[in-house]
Amino acid sequence: MIDCIFCKIAAKEIPAKIVAETELSLAFWDIAPKQPIHILVIPKQHHENVAELAAEATDYLVDLVQLGSRIASDVSTGSFRLTFNTGVEAGQTVFHAHGHITSTTPKEQVA
Ligand code: 5GP
Ligand code: ZN
Repeated sequence: MIDCIFCKIAAKEIPAKIVAETELSLAFWDIAPKQPIHILVIPKQHHENVAELAAEATDYLVDLVQLGSRIASDVSTGSFRLTFNTGVEAGQTVFHAHGHITSTTPKEQVA
C-alpha cells in the first residue's frame, strides 16, 4: 500500500533494526521503545489491523504469532506481552497490523 510505513519496512525500502523474518512476517525493534524489550512483528502483506488480518489472512496471523513467540523466548525470560492496538481509541497510530512484543526482563539480566 502506498504511503504505509510498515509496507515500506517490509519491502526494505526504509531501514529498520530487523530481528528476524519468515516468508510471511518481519520483526524489528520499535523506534521508540516503551519497555527494555520492545519489538514489532508485522505481516509482510498489508492489513489495517489484527482483526482484519484474522478475517482475511489467517496464515499470516498464525505465522506472526509463531515468530513473535519464538523471538520472545529468545530475548526474554519467557514472560512477555504480545499486544495489538486496534483502532485510534486503543492507541493504534500505524494502520498496518502489528503486534508489540514487550518485556521488562531481557534474558541477559537474569543471573
Ligand atoms: P501503535 O501505536 O500503532 O500500536 O504502534 C506503532 C508503533 O510503531 C509505535 O510503538 C512506534 O514507536 C512504532 N513506529 C512508528 N514508526 C516507526 C518506524 O518508522 N520504525 C520503527 N522501527 N518503529 C516505528
Ligand atoms: Zn502496510
